[in-house]
Amino acid sequence: MKMTELEELRTKIQEVTIEMLSLLKTRTEIAQEIGKIKNKEGMSVSDESREDELRELVKKQCQEINFNSNTALKFLNFLLNESVKVQSSESKTHLSIFLKAKELEREGKKIIHLEVGEPNFQPPINVKKSLSEVYDKGLGKYGPAKGLPEFRIKLAEFTNKYFETKINSENVMVTPGARFGVFLSITTLLDPGDEMIVIEPAWPAYRHCAINAGIKVRSVKTTLENKWEPDIDEISSCINDNTKMIVLNYPNNPTGKILPKTLQDKIVEIARKHDLYILSDEIYSNYSNEEWKSVLSYDYEKSIITQSFSKSHSMTGYRIGYLISSEKIIERLTKLQALCLTNVSEPIQYTAMNSLEEDVTDNVKTMDERLTKLEEICKEMELEFIKPDGAMYIFARTKNPINTSELSEKLLEHGVAIAPGIGFGDYNEFFRISACLDIKTLIQGMDILKTRL
Ligand code: PMP
Repeated sequence: MKMTELEELRTKIQEVTIEMLSLLKTRTEIAQEIGKIKNKEGMSVSDESREDELRELVKKQCQEINFNSNTALKFLNFLLNESVKVQSSESKTHLSIFLKAKELEREGKKIIHLEVGEPNFQPPINVKKSLSEVYDKGLGKYGPAKGLPEFRIKLAEFTNKYFETKINSENVMVTPGARFGVFLSITTLLDPGDEMIVIEPAWPAYRHCAINAGIKVRSVKTTLENKWEPDIDEISSCINDNTKMIVLNYPNNPTGKILPKTLQDKIVEIARKHDLYILSDEIYSNYSNEEWKSVLSYDYEKSIITQSFSKSHSMTGYRIGYLISSEKIIERLTKLQALCLTNVSEPIQYTAMNSLEEDVTDNVKTMDERLTKLEEICKEMELEFIKPDGAMYIFARTKNPINTSELSEKLLEHGVAIAPGIGFGDYNEFFRISACLDIKTLIQGMDILKTRL
């Protein structure tokens, strides 16, 4: 008798599941149609206010039918992410422009790369010596997933020396670049349906990692008019039970902004109050021209800090960075790193370890000089931007708004690559230029840009 009841229920649940699938198909097709219109009209894929309306509707419906709104909102997040995925295929980022530029270079065209954040400095000279030593040192075997123990000790000492912290090597994990650290943190600490706050404009990988892991991005937009400073009330108002993380990136890519200390204090306070993880991407910290405070200094156990040798030591292609967090979080992240790649290449770890304390202040000085020159040119061109407090970019727009995705495509034909604003959020009128080339080449690039505006 019981079995018949079970069978009946199983048939019912099966029918409901199949019906939901048909509805999902219809929903996806509608999302595709909406995507085509948005694309034609130059609208951004995500529309926060429309999503908020849906959220309110779902909450109301849950009350009416007496259903758990947390579960319903997680399900809504899944649906919203599916819409974003089907609508995002066309959108341009600095990476897509970079890849297109590389393709043109292979065909023999000369391109000035103003789109990519890759300093043209040589890595510290001792990198050469270290690389030649790894063979004799037998550093070609599998190693611990957290990284070489002596490297982690040095990284902890280095951090304590420069950031006035009291961490030890158990708080440190070596990663193949900060990008992988970002991926590990988002993928491990958050679950599908959870929400993560990103202050935009932002480096696109935060959003992409979230979408990949089924996590909903709640973007808090900032504006040039408000000096790229987020509104605290706006951050608070998008927090609900599903919110698990806030991402910070100062000095910022693409704006170069460093938050005023009191504002950053308030954000950390909100994160503590709501028990959120803070993922603080601090890879531009040594390119700070204004007062900057690491999130490490708040001693908040749910913070994860990413660092890298890519920009500070101009070692982008070596793929080496590290994470700093609580022992507990590091343990969890290590599991995914072990699963994905066993360990970071030890020859590269050894090389980075030996260059950690190398003097890179000349790079910082040169970058600042280039940014100053770019600012001067941008002012002459009557572009609108705020003076970057750090990092290596200027995020600007023209007085009369233009579609910079079209502009960046057109500019490629004339031998210049720039990063369109759409890649950093809903900033189609802006574009990012990098100060990663020598001043003469930067001027050449900007001269070409001038003729196309
Ligand atoms: N974070 C930010 C803000 C970046 O701009 C970049 C690279 N452009 C990265 C992380 C990636 O750094 P890495 O080369 O260490 O992976």
